[in-house]
Amino acid sequence: MQKKKVVLTFPYKLINEPITYHLIKDYDLEVNIIRARISPREEGRLMMEISGKEEPLRKGMDYLKELGVEVQSLAQDIRWLDEKCTDCTICIPICPTEAMALDRNEMTVTFDQDKCIGCGLCVPACPYKAVEILF
Ligand code: SF4
Ligand code: SF4
Repeated sequence: MQKKKVVLTFPYKLINEPITYHLIKDYDLEVNIIRARISPREEGRLMMEISGKEEPLRKGMDYLKELGVEVQSLAQDIRWLDEKCTDCTICIPICPTEAMALDRNEMTVTFDQDKCIGCGLCVPACPYKAVEILF
């Protein structure tokens, strides 16, 4: 079983396309939508976690690309600005996945991109604007 956290950007003409239905039914994938944004007469964006076996997962991604959906790794949309972080630790109890953690040896806050699900809870909580979600 593999997991991918991705951001899908699709043109207005594909907004009514049952993309998640096809990923689930045709490719036997599990889809967890983290965030969605659809603007009238503009593009739509979906942040999701997709999991499944390696081959169906690859085929599912190929299906999206052939359809005209832009598939980006979530890593490109979450940015932790180390230079702005003051290690205040406010975000640590807020983060549901422990992507924000305290390195007790260094007494600094660390960010683990692989654990981050892009929920956005840390963004308003951070007083120093050290986390940005470009979504
Ligand atoms: S976006 Fe959510 S999961 Fe990611 S670091 Fe912030 S609180 Fe944690
Ligand atoms: S709340 Fe902001 S400044 Fe404080 S530790 Fe978290 S990312 Fe750094």
